[in-house]
Amino acid sequence: MRTGRPGPVIAVDGPAGAGKSTLARLLAAELGLLYIDTGAMYRAVALGALEAGIPLGDEEALARLVRACDIRLVPQPDGRPRVELDGRDVTGRLRAPEVTRAAAQVARHPEVRARLVELQRAMAEAGGAVVEGRDIGTEVLPEADVKFFVTASLAERAARRYRQLRRQGAATTYDEVRKELAERDALDETREVGPLVRAEGAIVVDTTGATVERSLARMREHVLRALGPRAAGRARPGRAGGRPGDGRPG
Ligand code: C5P
Repeated sequence: MRTGRPGPVIAVDGPAGAGKSTLARLLAAELGLLYIDTGAMYRAVALGALEAGIPLGDEEALARLVRACDIRLVPQPDGRPRVELDGRDVTGRLRAPEVTRAAAQVARHPEVRARLVELQRAMAEAGGAVVEGRDIGTEVLPEADVKFFVTASLAERAARRYRQLRRQGAATTYDEVRKELAERDALDETREVGPLVRAEGAIVVDTTGATVERSLARMREHVLRALGPRAAGRARPGRAGGRPGDGRPG
């Protein structure tokens, strides 16, 4: 365990749609820690690039953009952060399909990653946090106190995402959603910098067929075991309902 830090750092990585956002957010609320959604930061850069008409393969222009823009995650009472890009609230725009696709593209560029990783480290180390993403336990915070790898079968992740998109009124098919998730997995797993891999020592939480309560209970148990009174002192009982990924994309 690390010492000299004001609060514990918990890394939650895994593929899209596995339920990690829901679980990371609930765990952070229970432990009284900040929840950092790093995917939202890649999405904000993607939105900025789309708005500015920057080609998603132009690393130099994207690097300039990411250095110049101001991205903030502002904690909200419900635990979902408000995302601000240059002072504008862009939260409601980050889940649009074109932004989702663009985020996976901009995330391939080493210079974009380097800047966002710097910001993520500064945020997490200020007071402890539950940090969710793809490369948190491997690259961003390899010294994290506890590391989780949250996953689920592609079929289940696609089914959850499909239900969620249909609820939002999107015209799509299960096959389309499944294909897009598989493509995003491939992009995340094959990039040279910060690829999605299970960090050494990360605890695998497979949410296939599991309720949020069950997965969250497993994670809580591991955290309490690893951190002992440090975590117990902070913990507040939380409530969870539904299945991972039902709240929002994970
Ligand atoms: O988690 P979320 O789906 O919001 O992430 C959006 C995109 O950002 C992902 O498809 C992934 O390519 C990228 N990402 C990343 N590293 C992170 C978090 C997200 O590359 N730590």
